[in-house]
Amino acid sequence: MDLFEYQARDIFEKHGVPVLGGVVATTPQEAREGAEKLGGGTVVVKAQVKTGGRGKAGGVKLAHSPEEAEAKAAEILGMDIKGHTVHRVMIAQGAKIAEEYYFSILLDRANRNYLAMCSVEGGVEIEQLAVERPEALAKVAVDPLTGIDEAKAAEIVDAAGFADDIKGKVAATIQTLWTVFKNEDATLVEVNPLVKTSDGAIIALDGKVSLDENASEVRHPDHEALEDKAATDPLEAKAKANNLNYVKLDGEVGIIGNGAGLVMSTLDVVAYAGEKHGGVKPANFLDIGGGANAEVMANGLDVILGDEQVKAVFVNVFGGITACDEVAKGIVGALDLLGDHATKPLVVRLDGNNVDLGREILATRNHPLVTLADTMDGGADLAAAKAAAPAA
Ligand code: GDP
Ligand code: MN
Repeated sequence: MDLFEYQARDIFEKHGVPVLGGVVATTPQEAREGAEKLGGGTVVVKAQVKTGGRGKAGGVKLAHSPEEAEAKAAEILGMDIKGHTVHRVMIAQGAKIAEEYYFSILLDRANRNYLAMCSVEGGVEIEQLAVERPEALAKVAVDPLTGIDEAKAAEIVDAAGFADDIKGKVAATIQTLWTVFKNEDATLVEVNPLVKTSDGAIIALDGKVSLDENASEVRHPDHEALEDKAATDPLEAKAKANNLNYVKLDGEVGIIGNGAGLVMSTLDVVAYAGEKHGGVKPANFLDIGGGANAEVMANGLDVILGDEQVKAVFVNVFGGITACDEVAKGIVGALDLLGDHATKPLVVRLDGNNVDLGREILATRNHPLVTLADTMDGGADLAAAKAAAPAA
């Protein structure tokens, strides 16, 4: 989960990373009040969107009075930055910047390690620096067991080439940023720019934090409040509320299966079959998991039938721990519950544990929307055909 800058700022503050005052505003009026709250002096009005390069796009503006903050907020709110609409701004206390640095810690998946990156040439787009002058960006591997201790922090600031008079302060801030990374179970903590102010203080002026959602539920119940509910796809939100593993895709054939591997190969088979039927594609990934019962099946079907783009559904279940009769009961139950709201054809392929019983349940109910398929390929082809010509 990526955080907004103001959320990153709050987390930094909580762990003792030096930051400046910041207040979130959703209207120009609130922006003015925020600027007043910060003392009425110079502030920076910053677009809160989950993308970089806001400065270049005109989403970061200095304001020298609360009135000016209101005016700048009016300009920035509603702006489109790389496809993200600005719904809120942060009013941040202005800093007198002497130098801009770069620092980040991230999960280095390729090397199964953590990586710290640091440069005395921050502020700019770091991707560009990494390409054009890679020698200016120090990369230091961080052992997960020892993390960034005093020695590691010293190694990082030396590699980046900080001046002697500032080294100590930067190293201390880097150690604090490591505690943010570790204690919050982050996968990325990036500060760009980390600045030296004209009076020699080190301050994190812009923060980017990604949290590991796998750690959230158990280790960080407070992280749920950081989620941007408004930006979540309503179908994905509904699936999440029902504990379903669901990802919305762009096609027309709704997919339900059990086990991530089977669902992924079902997506492939449907995409392949869809080529013969006008290029229809899978509409989603939905894994009802092992041991799924009738209720889980019904919840899954409910989510998929709620997707307007879906024209037909392919249920592909191999009964292992999940028994086919439970799946069949779930399908029948969901269809009966939905009544007239169920209007999309369902192709069902069942195999494995209790398959005969499952098929019998579906045959007995004999629902006009349900067709049984014998094989995965046959089911995929039939579902694709129905999605291409829903009336047939
Ligand atoms: P980004 O473009 O999305 O990365 O947004 P940043 O928060 O990094 O801001 C972009 C640039 O605006 C920074 O690199 C600074 O040069 C400048 N900036 C941000 N905050 C301040 C501030 O308080 N005072 C001054 N003078 N400049 C600032
Ligand atoms: Mn930045």
